[in-house]
Amino acid sequence: MANFIKYLTIYKQDILFRVRIIMSNIFALTLNCGSSTLKFSVVDFKKNKELILGMADFLCSSGVSILWKTKTGKYNDILHKQSNIEEIIDFISYNILKSNIKIFNNIVCIGHRVVHGGSKLRKSVIIDKKIIKHIEHASIFAPLHNPINLLGIQASFNIFPHLKKKNVAVFDTAFHSTLPKRSYLYGIPYGFYKDYGIRRYGAHGISYSYVTNRSSEILKISRHRLNIIACHLGNGASIAAIRNGVCLDTSMGLTPLEGLIMGTRSGDIDPSIIFFMYKKLKMSIKEIENILIKKSGLLGISELSSDFRILESNYLSCEKVKLSIEVFCYRLSKYIASYTTLMQGKLDAIVFTGGIGENSCLVREITISRLSILNCNIDIKLNTSMISGKEGFINSKNSISILVIPTNEALVIAKESVLLFKKSI
Ligand code: ADP
Repeated sequence: MANFIKYLTIYKQDILFRVRIIMSNIFALTLNCGSSTLKFSVVDFKKNKELILGMADFLCSSGVSILWKTKTGKYNDILHKQSNIEEIIDFISYNILKSNIKIFNNIVCIGHRVVHGGSKLRKSVIIDKKIIKHIEHASIFAPLHNPINLLGIQASFNIFPHLKKKNVAVFDTAFHSTLPKRSYLYGIPYGFYKDYGIRRYGAHGISYSYVTNRSSEILKISRHRLNIIACHLGNGASIAAIRNGVCLDTSMGLTPLEGLIMGTRSGDIDPSIIFFMYKKLKMSIKEIENILIKKSGLLGISELSSDFRILESNYLSCEKVKLSIEVFCYRLSKYIASYTTLMQGKLDAIVFTGGIGENSCLVREITISRLSILNCNIDIKLNTSMISGKEGFINSKNSISILVIPTNEALVIAKESVLLFKKSI
């Protein structure tokens, strides 16, 4: 009898909890921990809207600068320079979330952006010890990203113990799990794929997921019939061929080093360059890695900066800067042209997103100017007006649609997290 009463009590509590979840607002905290920034947000799942949006910048000269905005305004603060991820998340919890207790109390789950899921993790998951091991294992493929993502996960376990079983990992590689074998296999002995998982995995999948849904809404074409080529151009840059709503090819590979020229990453190179650096120049593997990841790309060619705002403002006055932007756009237009061959005669739009894609009319103009043979033409006036978070078409009349869509990874992370949270209760 005592057991029966205990069972009834637990059952009642469970039902009450579920009713509360259905009736009340449910919010997700999202954390996107990178090497130079930690982006965070609180998203109202039902309204699909951010209530708090913020970013901690580790590279700021005076310390870790934290900027955030809420319904009531914009705020900022500075933490001391050595602040680690846990201290930053602690600040977010105590100074930002808990100062709005109504919001804090409605946070039911925490969504983490994780760059690489390796061969085992192909969709979003609730994080437990086994999942942490898999993410650690995949760090070899994303050494700049996965270890920092893990620090964010560990910190949120410590700071939000009541939500420990409600942390969700959302993977950038998941969107590319539909790549066919012909696209993800490298031309090296098959055993490297079979025994070690050496294949192309892609990245920026969370962003591609957002722009695919948004393109489907804007173009009024259902997602499963939508054919787009999406260009995510930020510090890291990649491109994806999306047919019938799923990814068929993408420019990033085993790691986010392959493909387009990026801020500091080389993108595609002849692997023999590595042998040359190693054998002829007697450089160590660590030095070579550092060059290809941190000293190449736009920074390497321009010898000035990886920051596109600085490059754009020197475009006319500095020959090397001009060259770096031309190489960047040239490679991008080559990728776009090759991806049109995957569209089976129906390309609904070319989409630009990411910090550069959303803001640089110069990059969009140079890149598209090479694609007129494919009936892609830009409208100069529309192109110059589509900056600073604006969304819309930039193509001229009778051209294939060209769209600028500001990405919103936080909304995707929040949605995935809440859906998994709901399944778990
Ligand atoms: P991340 O890959 O770090 O998320 P972002 O998507 O934020 O990068 O993009 C950062 C890049 O976007 C930087 O090179 C930055 O200079 C560039 N960028 C941001 N705003 C502008 C702008 N108004 N004009 C040109 N480039 C911009």
